[in-house]
Amino acid sequence: MTNQGDIDTGSVQPVTIPRPEHAISRASISPGALKVLYRLKDAGFHSYLVGGGVRDLLLGREPKDFDVGTDATPDEIKGLFRSCRLIGRRFRLAHVRYGHEVIEVATFRACLDSAADDDDAVRAHSEDGRILRDNVYGSLEDDVWRRDFTVNALYYDIRDFSVIDYVGGLEDLKAGTLRLIGDPEQRYREDPVRMLRAVRFAAKLGFRIHAHSEAAIYELGHLLRDIPPARLFEEILKLFLGGCAVATFELLRHYNLFQYLFAMTEEALGWEEQGFPITFVLRALENTDQRLAEGKPVTPAFLFAALLWEPMRLRARELHDQGATPLEASQLAGNQVTAEQVQVSSLPKRFSLPMREIWNLQVRFERRRGKAPYRLLEHPRFRAAYDFLLLRTETGEQTAELAEWWTEFQTLNAEQRDKLVAPAATKKRRRRPRRRKPANQVDG
Ligand code: ATP
Ligand code: MG
Repeated sequence: MTNQGDIDTGSVQPVTIPRPEHAISRASISPGALKVLYRLKDAGFHSYLVGGGVRDLLLGREPKDFDVGTDATPDEIKGLFRSCRLIGRRFRLAHVRYGHEVIEVATFRACLDSAADDDDAVRAHSEDGRILRDNVYGSLEDDVWRRDFTVNALYYDIRDFSVIDYVGGLEDLKAGTLRLIGDPEQRYREDPVRMLRAVRFAAKLGFRIHAHSEAAIYELGHLLRDIPPARLFEEILKLFLGGCAVATFELLRHYNLFQYLFAMTEEALGWEEQGFPITFVLRALENTDQRLAEGKPVTPAFLFAALLWEPMRLRARELHDQGATPLEASQLAGNQVTAEQVQVSSLPKRFSLPMREIWNLQVRFERRRGKAPYRLLEHPRFRAAYDFLLLRTETGEQTAELAEWWTEFQTLNAEQRDKLVAPAATKKRRRRPRRRKPANQVDG
């Protein structure tokens, strides 16, 4: 059943917009994408630019990457390009590489409803309607309906440079509307990640999610629990490292989706009334957006360190109250929070290790006597940890004095540093009784 206002996936005549009537010029398409389009065409296949590339060019924005749709099969694509890799289990896609550029080339696929037969060998659903495999090849007319939003289903034809629209995508683009193709509930059930994509595009493009596409999100967020952690991790990076992290975060919370990505953080945000944990996350995300706008590098390690800081801090405080030293508490809380998070979204070790170093270094900033500050300054994660300290200071969690001390310490020469740093405490410290290492140390 389709709701009024949704797009019907029946037989539809497309609208074709000839070259003079739209703004996409070949000059704004990347050289690699153009080569792929032409090589396919010259080999006798249909080839179209589709997806975000067409959408963004029509909006006058610079596309992040280019996607190509074709009737050539993955093996035929592979035969045409030397630098081609076939990827994907659910969808077999071709990645064609030109220098740093990777063009994603996808064979047209038929969507579920329009495919004539229901061959389990090529397509499979989970009990709740999620697509597990679908590799039924089809024509452009078939391919349109399996795309997510109308504005993502516009095709740029390399033969005559026209834009083809089956789903009213151009109108939605003009109106700033994100509208799922087909019945929203069914489309989210097929692939719950579409809810995250809705939020991501709404934030990035400043679009409104159409009322019907929106209503289902409030009901179906829990389906995100079934998404494999590795896919959620990739999606989290797109959500928060796409340059619009603040708007994305606010929309994710608005649609009650944030809890399915960062349950511990959501809970911690709920606990604290005075507002600074949420301020901290917001400041960190603002900072991320700003760095990206300035062309500075951002790392998932810092992002996750910030997003998981509040639950990590609360847990460390608990452990400290139970008798752990600050560093032990930080290390153990870091292990626990990481272990819990990777159940939901994976976090590769190359990010989780530096994330925990950033956390542990927060404790070491407190040690300002003797050799400790010199050693800390040499630490490979010093810079990231110092930036993190500044964020904590800005949001009032840490005293300004500590951050100022470290800011000054970095700028001084060796002699001045020696004056600033107090000698190590001479008083012989009483050894604390050795405690057993907690048994549940885990690694992410
Ligand atoms: P961007 O690359 O700017 O993030 P995009 O729209 O190009 O946005 P991609 O993930 O590159 O997004 O996907 C390319 C196209 O493939 C989309 O525009 C859409 O048509 C289709 N697509 C991608 N993911 C899905 C999905 N989960 N369900 C349906 N269609 C999808
Ligand atoms: Mg894309």
